[in-house]
Amino acid sequence: MANWTRRGFCGSVSGLAAATSLAAQQRGSQPLPEKRTGHGPIKITDLRCAIIGRNPVVRIVTDQGISGYGQAESAKPYLKPMVLFYKDYILGEDPTDVQRVLLKIRRLGSSKPWGSAVSAIEMALWDIAGQAAGVPVYKLLGGKIRDRVRIYNGGVRFPMTGQTPQDYAENMAKMKEAKEGFTLIKQAVGFHNAAMMRAVPNAWYDDPRTGAAHPDRGLMTERGLKHVIACVEAMKKVLGDEIGLALDCGPGWTVKDAITFARALEPLHITWLEDLITGDYTPYPNADVFREVTQSTSIPIHTGEQIYLRENFKDLIEKQAVNIIGPDPEDVGGIAELKWIAEYADLHGILVAPHGIFDGLIGLAAHVQMAAALPQNYIAFEYPVGQPEWWNEIVDGLPNPIVKRGFIDVWDRPGLGVTFNVQAARPHLSGEDRGFFD
Ligand SMILES: [Mg+2]
Repeated sequence: MANWTRRGFCGSVSGLAAATSLAAQQRGSQPLPEKRTGHGPIKITDLRCAIIGRNPVVRIVTDQGISGYGQAESAKPYLKPMVLFYKDYILGEDPTDVQRVLLKIRRLGSSKPWGSAVSAIEMALWDIAGQAAGVPVYKLLGGKIRDRVRIYNGGVRFPMTGQTPQDYAENMAKMKEAKEGFTLIKQAVGFHNAAMMRAVPNAWYDDPRTGAAHPDRGLMTERGLKHVIACVEAMKKVLGDEIGLALDCGPGWTVKDAITFARALEPLHITWLEDLITGDYTPYPNADVFREVTQSTSIPIHTGEQIYLRENFKDLIEKQAVNIIGPDPEDVGGIAELKWIAEYADLHGILVAPHGIFDGLIGLAAHVQMAAALPQNYIAFEYPVGQPEWWNEIVDGLPNPIVKRGFIDVWDRPGLGVTFNVQAARPHLSGEDRGFFD
């Protein structure tokens, strides 16, 4: 687009193009837009990864002075070798042919956490493509549907004082008063919240497990299920119908417990129940089992944060297995991949609320650009906060304050529209990442 407007200033129109343009004018037509000249294709000259705080940050360097940034979740500081693994596949490619570059690497990823490296690279490619064209990334994704994007709270938290329903109510009151003015808040309950479950003796028919995230599962006891429901009722009382309440629940529920739970909450108009069956770090979606829960309740059922690529959403969407999908752009294969999935979901009457709690501030910029262009089945994305807090000092280009009354205004700078304040960021690089910004 920018090339069209710049054409008149460039002045380097070839003889053939000039003749064509003259012929068009003689026919009474407008001259056709011409290819940008004098620049040649952009080439990727380096792929770098630094761990800043706990977030892997990707930088793609080109031969024309443009760099693109991408980011992976702060839960994955171990991801650096996985990012660098892809370097040889993309060196020398034109980063503005985003999908062609991705075809070289997308098959070499997998479910969370192993789709993150490809996803972060995808974001960095769009950042370059936007800067090269002189337009914000949302223009390249089809243009914006909205001028401001709704976010939901998954990351602004206050310390818990205990595990009773009253403690949950008091904690929710603080989130309700938070300066961001959230219109939708998500809270962890059930097996997604080990402290809640373990506060009640014999809350389910198994022993607490140790190991990687959310290891507990099984049939709940009457006492366990009643405790979870009482905590939800207490939180909902605080929010009333002013602010929506979504619940991140699992994975690990049995189908019957999930249905009993959902039906008990129906009078409370919960916005969604997330990941009851599978979810966070479960490397399969289990669409048929979700479908049974979804068909048994009027509360919207939500899943999808761990899923990599559109192909792995096919069953969930085509079988109407859930009402809302929640892919994370830093796990699903990137922002254009997520948009494609959201469009396909929309054709099937399914909503989208992207996951993003650990996606960092470069990730936040990518979410905003993407959410601006998502179709009308978009609800809100999960707002990532800069952690540690000094992240807010090292990224330039975000609005201040970032969130106003539960929304973020979409900005119009080229690419993702944010960059590093290198002077402020450099002291946070480890010794081995010293050359990241050079
Ligand atoms: Mg979740």
